Amino acid sequence: MEPQSQLSREELHAWQLSIEEANRHNIWCHCRHCNREWIASHPAACECGSKSVEYIACWQFPDD
Ligand SMILES: [Zn+2]
Repeated sequence: MEPQSQLSREELHAWQLSIEEANRHNIWCHCRHCNREWIASHPAACECGSKSVEYIACWQFPDD
């Protein structure tokens, strides 16, 4: 028999959900206007009022 892929469909689904969860609650925000940086659970305008904010999901950062 062929070996199964490492993740079952169910495990893969759980993994995708956990990625989405992490993405939802750990968004690194950087204001291009005042250079403020913060972590947010959802994209929002900067405290300075600027909406020119860069959003990067934390899980996209490399480990090192
Ligand atoms: Zn700002």
